[in-house]
Amino acid sequence: ILSVENLDKSFGSVKILKDINVAIEPGDFLVLVGPSGCGKSTLLNCIAGLEKATGGDIRIGGRSMNGVSPKDRDIAMVFQSYALYPTMTVGKNITFGMKVRGVPEAEQQRKLNEVATLLQIEHLLDRKPSQLSGGQRQRVAMGRALVRDPQLFLFDEPLSNLDAKLRVEMRTEIKRLHQTLGASIVYVTHDQIEAMTLATKIVVMKDGIIQQVGTPNEIYNQPANMFVADFMGSPS
Ligand code: ATP
Ligand code: MG
Repeated sequence: ILSVENLDKSFGSVKILKDINVAIEPGDFLVLVGPSGCGKSTLLNCIAGLEKATGGDIRIGGRSMNGVSPKDRDIAMVFQSYALYPTMTVGKNITFGMKVRGVPEAEQQRKLNEVATLLQIEHLLDRKPSQLSGGQRQRVAMGRALVRDPQLFLFDEPLSNLDAKLRVEMRTEIKRLHQTLGASIVYVTHDQIEAMTLATKIVVMKDGIIQQVGTPNEIYNQPANMFVADFMGSPS
């Protein structure tokens, strides 16, 4: 469903992503891990079309995304920074995309109620983003992605601001979402447990270079190098 081929990305003269090759099949849950600054968000932004790659190709559903604008890509992204519309209420933030796509009002409300219950934000729907905590904003951003029902979800540390209890609950929900909808997901996290429990495939990146791609079991038990072993806390 997604294939990233020989992708390069530079900002000015600084190379951030170096010859990235990743493929995911329908239903894959790909978790991308690596140190801060290694290029994880940049890679998601390139896939979403928010950053233009310097070289290489990105294909979604077999179709090259070269020159395809972000809104024409069948993707829903949850940003590390949430990126909510500040002037809209929480409810409007979640339904806005459906409204733009001409989804009937009743269906918008039904989906809104469904995700609001799931994310435990029913009581917040009339507030503005500025009146929410970080974790609440994160859940609204998640809600906005969930109502889209796209070919591919991109999640950039979607649970990083939640308390431990909510994080475990949401992790379970995301796992359920993946299993019941068969959604294809690319997911960035710093949390090793999250990576090990959610992933069908893990990509370990360092300095814009992929170090290893494998199942959680392979990455943990057969790390390709010292960096991967160290980063994933593999037994030595
Ligand atoms: P984190 O885990 O902290 O979110 P990350 O792996 O997501 O890190 P990126 O945000 O992809 O890292 O950034 C990768 C590198 O690219 C960093 O060194 C960052 O400073 C640089 N970078 C990101 N965006 C830009 C930009 N618009 N202009 C110049 N440099 C940038
Ligand atoms: Mg990032």
